[in-house]
Amino acid sequence: GENGEAVQLKENKMSPEEKATFKKGWDDNAFNQMASDMISLHRTLPDVRDRDCLKLEYDVNNLPDTSIIIIFHNEAWSALLRTVHSVLDRSHPKLVKEIILVDDFSNKDHLKEPLDAYMSQLKKVRILRGKKRQGLIRARLMGASVARGQVLTFLDSHCECAKGWLEPLLHRISLNWTNVVTPIIDVISDSTLSYLHTSAKSTSVGGFDWNLQFNWHPIQKRDIESRKSDADPLRSPTMAGGLFSINKKYFEHLGSYDPGMDIWGAENLEMSFKVWMCGGTLEIIVCSHVGHIFRSRSPYEWRRGVNVLVKNTVRLAEVWMDEYKQLYYDRINNNLGDYGDVSDRKALRQKLGCHSFQWYLDNIYPEMFIPKNSVCTGEGSSNSPLPMCIDSSTETSTLNKPVGLWPCHQQGGNQLWFLDKNGRIRRDDHCLFNSRGTVMVAECNEQYAHQLWVYNKVGW
Ligand code: UDP
Ligand code: MN
Repeated sequence: GENGEAVQLKENKMSPEEKATFKKGWDDNAFNQMASDMISLHRTLPDVRDRDCLKLEYDVNNLPDTSIIIIFHNEAWSALLRTVHSVLDRSHPKLVKEIILVDDFSNKDHLKEPLDAYMSQLKKVRILRGKKRQGLIRARLMGASVARGQVLTFLDSHCECAKGWLEPLLHRISLNWTNVVTPIIDVISDSTLSYLHTSAKSTSVGGFDWNLQFNWHPIQKRDIESRKSDADPLRSPTMAGGLFSINKKYFEHLGSYDPGMDIWGAENLEMSFKVWMCGGTLEIIVCSHVGHIFRSRSPYEWRRGVNVLVKNTVRLAEVWMDEYKQLYYDRINNNLGDYGDVSDRKALRQKLGCHSFQWYLDNIYPEMFIPKNSVCTGEGSSNSPLPMCIDSSTETSTLNKPVGLWPCHQQGGNQLWFLDKNGRIRRDDHCLFNSRGTVMVAECNEQYAHQLWVYNKVGW
C-alpha cells in the first residue's frame, strides 16, 4: 500500500482463519479492512497535484488556523488512525489548532481505552464521546461547539490527506469568510485501498436530482471556458458533504446544521443550498486533494421503523425549496411522514434574508433539468397485447440494461417520465435510449445520440 498503491489479497490462498477475518472485515466496514490493516498508518502518497498548483506559494503566517473535526461510528482502527496521521504528517503544524475526534456512540472495544491510550500521546488530539447515538449531523455539531480554531475542517474517519492539502483551503477562506471550500475528493478503493487520483481537468462538480440525491457531474462548459489556470477554484452547485472547510463564525452565522436531522443524509444539500442562497460561495479547491474510501453500502445500523433519509430530506425541502419541494414530494408519493418542527429553520432563513430557490436554480445551477419545462409528463404505456408501462429506476445498477415493463400503477415512481423540449424521454439526468432495438436507460448526453424520440399523432 506504500505510495498509495494497491494491496492485492488472494482469497484462494488464505487459511480458513484468514478467510474468516477477511470476510468479517468486509461485513463490519463495507471495505476491505484486512487490506487496510496491512498498510502503514503513515503510508506515503504520490504528490497528486496539478503542475499549475505547484507554482503557488502560501505564507502560513497569514493563514487562519483550523480545528479538524473527525466523527466516527464503529470505524476500523487502521482507517481512523491513518486519517489522523495523514493530517499530522502532511499539514503545517501552525495551521492545525487541534484534531477533535467525536465518537458517535461506537460499541467496538478498540475505540474505547485503546484509542484513549493511543491518542494521549498525540498532543493535538482530543476525543469527545456522545452518550447516545446521534448520527453524523449532531456529532459534527458537537465537535464544532468546542472547536477553538478559526476554521472548521470536517473529515470522514476513513480519509487520507495528500501533500499540500490544507494551505489552499485555508487560503481561499482567508480571502473571504463566506467562501466554503472542499478539496478534490480522490477515491481510495474499498477493495485494494489504492489511492486513485483525479486531475483538476477531469474532476467532477456536485449536483443533485429531484429525489434530492447528491450526484457528480462533469465540469460545465461555461466553467471550463472561464478558467485561466488548472489551479483556479471551481464553483460547485452542491457538495458531497463529508469533507469541507468553513470559517467557524460563518458556520455559526448560517445556523450550522439542522439539529433535527438524524443519522445520515440531506445535510450536505442543506449546507449547499444555504451557502449559495444566503450570499456565500461553494467551491472545489482543485489544488487540495484528500482521499476517501467510497463504499457501496452503509455498514452500520440506522434507526428502526423510521425512514431517516426521507425525514431529513423533507426537512430540507420544506425549508429551502419553496414551490420546488413538490417535485420531491411527487417522488415519495406525498408520504411526508412525521418530519418534526421546522419553524426554527424557516425563521433562520427569514433572518438571513436568503434568495429564493428559483434564484438558486437560475443563477447557480441553470443546467438542472426542471420537470415543469418538459413538453409532457407521465407514463410510457402500450396497450397491446396488455396495458404495460416502462418501469425502470435510474440507479447505477439498472443502467445499460433493458428497461422493465410492468402493469401501469399510476403512482409515478419508476413509471414517471418526462419528454423534454429536445425530444428526450428522461427522469432527471437519465434518458431512455435505443440500443440496437432495445430500450435502455443511460445518462443523457448532449449529442442526443440514440436518445431522440418522436411522438406521432397516432399515439406511438
Ligand atoms: N457517522 C457517524 N454516525 C452515524 C453515521 C455516520 O458518526 O450515525 C460517521 C462515519 O463514521 C463517517 C461519517 O459519519 O466518518 C460519514 O459517514 P459515511 O462514511 O458512512 O458516509 P459516506 O461517506 O458513505 O456518505
Ligand atoms: Mn465516508
